[in-house]
Amino acid sequence: MRWSEVFIPTLRDDPADAEAVSHKLLIRAGFMRQLMAGVYSMLPLGYRVLQKIEGIVREEMNRIGNQEFRLPSLHPREIWERSGRWSKMGSEMFQFKDRRGAEVGLGMTHEEIFAHLARELRSYKELPQAWYQFQTKFRDEPRPKSGLLRVREFTMKDSYSMDVDEDGLDRAFQAHFEAYRRIFKRLGLETVAVEASSGSMGGNQSIEFMLQTDAGEDWVAACRSCGYAANFEKAMSRIPATEDLAALPAPEKFPTPKARTIDDLATMEGGAPAEAQIKTLVYSVDGKVVLVLLRGDDSLVEQKLLDNIEAESLRPASGDEIQAALGAQPGSLGAVGVKDLFIIADEALRGRVGMVTGANEDGFHLRGVDIERDIDVKGWLDLREVKAGESCSLCGEPLEVYKCLEVAHIFKLGTMHSKAQGAEVLDANGKKVPVVMGSYGIGIDRNLAAIVEVHNDEAGIVWPVNVAPFEVVVSVIKPKDVNCLEAAKRIYEALQERGIDVILDDRDERPGVKFKDADLVGIPFRVTVGPKGLGDGVVELKGRRAGDTRDFEVAHAAVGIAEAVHDERR
Ligand SMILES: [Zn+2]
Repeated sequence: MRWSEVFIPTLRDDPADAEAVSHKLLIRAGFMRQLMAGVYSMLPLGYRVLQKIEGIVREEMNRIGNQEFRLPSLHPREIWERSGRWSKMGSEMFQFKDRRGAEVGLGMTHEEIFAHLARELRSYKELPQAWYQFQTKFRDEPRPKSGLLRVREFTMKDSYSMDVDEDGLDRAFQAHFEAYRRIFKRLGLETVAVEASSGSMGGNQSIEFMLQTDAGEDWVAACRSCGYAANFEKAMSRIPATEDLAALPAPEKFPTPKARTIDDLATMEGGAPAEAQIKTLVYSVDGKVVLVLLRGDDSLVEQKLLDNIEAESLRPASGDEIQAALGAQPGSLGAVGVKDLFIIADEALRGRVGMVTGANEDGFHLRGVDIERDIDVKGWLDLREVKAGESCSLCGEPLEVYKCLEVAHIFKLGTMHSKAQGAEVLDANGKKVPVVMGSYGIGIDRNLAAIVEVHNDEAGIVWPVNVAPFEVVVSVIKPKDVNCLEAAKRIYEALQERGIDVILDDRDERPGVKFKDADLVGIPFRVTVGPKGLGDGVVELKGRRAGDTRDFEVAHAAVGIAEAVHDERR
C-alpha cells in the first residue's frame, strides 16, 4: 500500500476530551473516530490492527478445537426470559419493539443463544463441544469514556464449552486458560490471572486476565511471594489485629453534637480511633432495608455483599428510608437494639468489645458496645476492601495493590443456562442430564486499546510487530527523484514478496513529517531510502522501539529486513 493513497488522518494535537493515553493516540494517529458517546468508527489503520488481533485469537481458538459460528445480534425476548436475564440486565441491554410489537434485545453476550442451539445435542458421545464467534456486542454503558476502554458497541470473541460433567468443564476451562495465556503473550500484554466475581453471569468460578495500568478501573490485590491474586471484588487478607477499648457492662450513651463522620469521632475529645468504631451502612437489598456493619477504618465492597447474599440488586438506602428504619440521620446510626432489620457484619468485627457506634439519636453515640452481646448480627461475611501491605491470607507476606484493566474473563457457568434453555443429553447411563457449560470472552477493541496503553512513548504508539497495522514503512526521502523512488519501490515489492506487511511512504512531504507520522502511527520498522544513502549503495533500517539503526546494501536489503521482521514475530 502507498501512504499517499491510504486514509490516515493524523492530527497535530490530542483530542481535547480524551484522558486515557490509548484514546488520545488512537484518535491522533488516525486509527479511529468517535461517532457518538461510546461508539467508534474504525478507520483503515484501526481495522488492520483489529483484524490482526482477531487472527491471533482465531488461531488459538482453532488450536484447542473450537468451532467458529456467527450468531445474530437481534435476540427475541423469550430466550432471555428463560434465563431470567431480560429484566436482570435491565438498562444495560438495548431493548426495543420491532414493527410488529415483538420485543427484541441487542445481544450483549450469547450464553442464551448458544445454549438454545445446544438443545440439538442428544448424547454424551457428541460431547465435548466448544463453539465460538467474533460478534458485535452492545452494552448501554451509563458512563462511556476513555475511548475504546468503555464503549457501548464493540467486537468480542466469545466461546462456550459444553460437556457432560464437571470434569469435562474443568478440562475445557483449563484449555481456554492456556489459550488465553498464549494470546496475551502474542499480543505483547503481560497479564495476571485473578479470581473474580461472576456477577450477573452466574456460575461458580471465574478468572479475569488483568493488565496492570492506571487506565484500568479494577483494583487487584496480589502476593509476589505465593502468586495469590484476586480482584478487589474477591480479594481477602489476614485481618490486621487491633486493640479493644475498655469493655463496659452495658453500652453507654454520650453526646457527640459535632461528630458526623468516623474521622470526627476519632479526633474529638473522648472519641475513639476508627478501628474501635462500628460503621453502620444502610442498604436497600431487593427492596428490603438491611444494615451492613464494618470496622470504622474499613470500606465495603458492594460486589462482595451482592455475591454473598445472592441478591438481585442493592443500593444505598435514601435519607427517608434511613429515617423511617432507624429514626435518625447518617452520622448517628447504629445497630444496637435494632430487632426488625436484617443485620450483616464484616468478619473483622467478630468478638470486638468496647466499640463506639451511633445511638440512632441525632447527636449521640454509644460506647462500650460488645458486638456479639449488644447487636443481633444475622450473618458474618467477608465484606471489607483489602489494603496494600496487609498480610496474604495464604502465606502471610504483604499484599500489593494496583489498578488493572480487565482484558478477558472466563467463567465456569455450570448448568444454569442449559437448564433454562432445555439443553440436555443422555449420559453414559442413559440418563438425561443438562449440559455443563463454560463461557470465555475477550474484547477485541479493548485489547487493541490495552496494547496502546502499555506500548507507547512520547512520539506515539509502539506496536508489537504481531499486531502492527504495517510491519515496515519504506520512507522515500525524495519521491520526485526517480532513482530514489524506483529503489524504494523495488525494496517495497521485494518485502511484499517475502510476506512482509509493508507500506510505501511516497508522499510529497518533508522527511521530518514522514518520520513523525511513522513514529506516531507506531510502525515497528522504518526503511529510509534517500539519495545520500543510495550514493553509498545503502538504505537504513530503524527500529521504532529502541531507535537502533542498521545499514543494508541495496541489493540485499529486502532479505535482511525481512529477517529482522521475522525475528520479532511471535
Ligand atoms: Zn501469598
